[in-house]
Amino acid sequence: MKDITLFWHRRDLRLSDNRGLFNALESSDSVLPLFIFDKNILDKLAAKEDPRVTFIFSEIEAMRRELRGMGSDLLVKYGSPAEVFKDILSEYNIAAVYTNRDYEPYARDRDKQISDFLSSENIPFLTFKDQVIFEFDEVLKKDGTPYTVFSPYSKRWREKLREQPITAYPSEQLGANFLNTASLPDLSLEDMGFRRSDLSFPEKTVPQGIIRNYDQTRNFPAVRGTSKLGIHFRFGTISIREKAAKAIQLNDVFLNELIWRDFYSMILGNFPQVVESAFKPAYDRIPWREAPDEFERWCNGKTGFPIVDAGMRELNATGYMHNRVRMVTASFLTKHLLIDWRLGEAYFAAKLLDYDLASNCGGWQWAMGGGTDAAPYFRIFNPISQQEKFDPQFTYVKQWVPEYGTPKYPQPMVEHKFARERCLQVYKDALNREP
Ligand code: FAD
Repeated sequence: MKDITLFWHRRDLRLSDNRGLFNALESSDSVLPLFIFDKNILDKLAAKEDPRVTFIFSEIEAMRRELRGMGSDLLVKYGSPAEVFKDILSEYNIAAVYTNRDYEPYARDRDKQISDFLSSENIPFLTFKDQVIFEFDEVLKKDGTPYTVFSPYSKRWREKLREQPITAYPSEQLGANFLNTASLPDLSLEDMGFRRSDLSFPEKTVPQGIIRNYDQTRNFPAVRGTSKLGIHFRFGTISIREKAAKAIQLNDVFLNELIWRDFYSMILGNFPQVVESAFKPAYDRIPWREAPDEFERWCNGKTGFPIVDAGMRELNATGYMHNRVRMVTASFLTKHLLIDWRLGEAYFAAKLLDYDLASNCGGWQWAMGGGTDAAPYFRIFNPISQQEKFDPQFTYVKQWVPEYGTPKYPQPMVEHKFARERCLQVYKDALNREP
């Protein structure tokens, strides 16, 4: 049996400008791409119509069509990666396994386990940077420690980019080096206990005007003023290098958002405890309220604050929520209702198409005050003035809350001034208390 080189796709569901794939295709003329539907992850998803699973499935199918057109295919497996690799080694002679690095705690443990297993079989496991522009240990302070504040980080990030300009890895030009193979077995969503979701997904391409005007339009949820590329960055269906290169040409504020993405990935890489705990430990002392009914009203968009309700309903209906509104809804849950940020984080994690552990924890901790760059706790978003400022014509609100302004719309569930003062008091007491 011929020796083959495996390329393991994870957060990089594309065949072009894929760094690890490019390296695999340069090193071998028999590269077989692999994707594992990871049971350890899928078993934790409550909804059997999870749109992210449908999205991954459709993207894998599209890659398979492309590969079959070149006389190759993609090996699709379902199971725990450790088991799957044992099976693959009994089916094929594997010369090496290539992949792109993933920085989430689960992924790092998984890769360590796979790497140890492969090395016990004398198979090299080669990993590459692909998902970010700079990895968590590349942009550091002069003393070698990680940044914990965004603006000096971004300054150093930009300097580093001048030192190491973006390069492309044209894997799409090396298609002749995929393994020649007859079609491999198919796997359906139903085989894995899932059903196809009928949500629609944002396009991979963005009209140039949106990026060009991004700094002017990005804050207004009623306007199509942002890229909606989050899901594509999350699953690597587009190349971050290509989009960052475009951002450099077209709009610096857009580039800045891509730096935020690297920043939160860097924070998670260096401080994995942020998944469970506040970056600033004092904020773990806040006595969050147990209020399941209030949490449910927030989830369902029935708070009586129109911009909060519009945001939550947009999220529930589409899997997307505008960034400005993510900030307002998260602040409302943690500061107005004093409900634990981890509950809100988990709700967003279940619903967002672009859910990303690093950015979601970063965003939630920013909103509740205990994160890296957090707004000071005494700066509390006023949901009414945020509404007036960013949706002055009530266009966004009316789109998602049609009963707004009629007797059917609920009264505010809490009085703003009361909630603000309660929050200030509770935070102050908790932060001033001795640990
Ligand atoms: P654009 O505005 O077009 O930005 C382009 C890309 O830049 C985004 O797709 C994203 O990859 C990146 N980006 C933009 N803003 C941020 C930011 N503040 N932090 C990190 N990356 C950013 N983003 C996620 O990708 N996944 C999440 O799970 C997530 N959860 C969030 C939770 C809260 C409470 C908050 C306040 C923000 C969260 N964000 C998250 C950040 C931001 O809201 C989204 O990235 C953005 O709204 C996605 O829409 P877009 O693709 O149109 O972004």
